[in-house]
Amino acid sequence: MRATVMYRAGDVRVENVPDAAIVNPTDALVRVTRACICGSDLWPYKDMPPTEDGRRMGHEAIGVVEAVGAGVRTVKKGDFVVMPFAFSDGECAFCHEGLQTSCVHGGFFGFSEGVGGAQAEAIRIPLADGTLFVLPVGEDSALVASLLTLSDVMGTGHHAAVTAGVGRGKKVAVVGDGAVGLCGVIAAKRLGAEQIILLGRHPARIALAKEFGATDIVSERGDAAVERVREMTGGFGVHSVLESVGTEPAMLTAVNITRPGGAIGRVGVPHYPGIPAWDSTFYKNITISGGPAPVRAYIAELLPDVLEGRIQPGRVFDRVIGIDEVPDGYRAMDKREAIKVMVKP
Ligand SMILES: [Zn+2]
Repeated sequence: MRATVMYRAGDVRVENVPDAAIVNPTDALVRVTRACICGSDLWPYKDMPPTEDGRRMGHEAIGVVEAVGAGVRTVKKGDFVVMPFAFSDGECAFCHEGLQTSCVHGGFFGFSEGVGGAQAEAIRIPLADGTLFVLPVGEDSALVASLLTLSDVMGTGHHAAVTAGVGRGKKVAVVGDGAVGLCGVIAAKRLGAEQIILLGRHPARIALAKEFGATDIVSERGDAAVERVREMTGGFGVHSVLESVGTEPAMLTAVNITRPGGAIGRVGVPHYPGIPAWDSTFYKNITISGGPAPVRAYIAELLPDVLEGRIQPGRVFDRVIGIDEVPDGYRAMDKREAIKVMVKP
């Protein structure tokens, strides 16, 4: 089968690899009908050291179950499923608490040893019962793009909003205008935020953010951005910041636009050494929360809104490619020519 392998920064290839297959009795084999390239894939694309064997890429997909192991109970051949970016057993203490990304038997697609990536024609799903979510529609559903976002970006934007304490009447800022930031706007609106300020500069992304519910846009950076947000919020900053970037400047901006007693939901994979401990966080009583989103826990909550068209997170996809064009998809996202690329294997 065809699958995506990254060998080093900037070197992504689509290769013939051994077909995905059931290994353990708790596995399912899924034929990928749609996958995508994630903003977090761009980190190794920028800085991955050279490797001999490469790393299988991709952690977001929907597809059709082709086969299940003898121990699988809730998923069957022919089911149309969404695959969260982390696999989980659904049975441990953390899965019961809705924190499947900390599952004691779990791991991450395209990352954990022996587990393949989703930018491929098929993928082996460990712990299929706990991991896969069976969708109530078929693979030809018109909602496929939005359903695919439940694999990561919509659930991740929602997690940022939840951990930042977004609620009715709150003032919210979203740092970052990538697919996760844009889904964060959807999530903030859905949870009742009164003001949603997007920090971003890219015209197409800003336009989409406004359609998703952003009330204000700040295109300045650094101190100027902080100043603008404070002006817009009565001088104090926002209750909730959704930090979807993961760089030090983004995190510093997030800290400086949070009002006393407010919270930051971090979902951008951190690429900074630390968070300021002094007056900007301690004396303002700021909560810093977030982490890898337990998207498995959120699918049941978000799915009805997708099925009934109340949210349309699939609009973040602005390019569709075939499996062999994946290297060009990485390039387009890295150059910010595309917001999010869908792969149709
Ligand atoms: Zn678990």
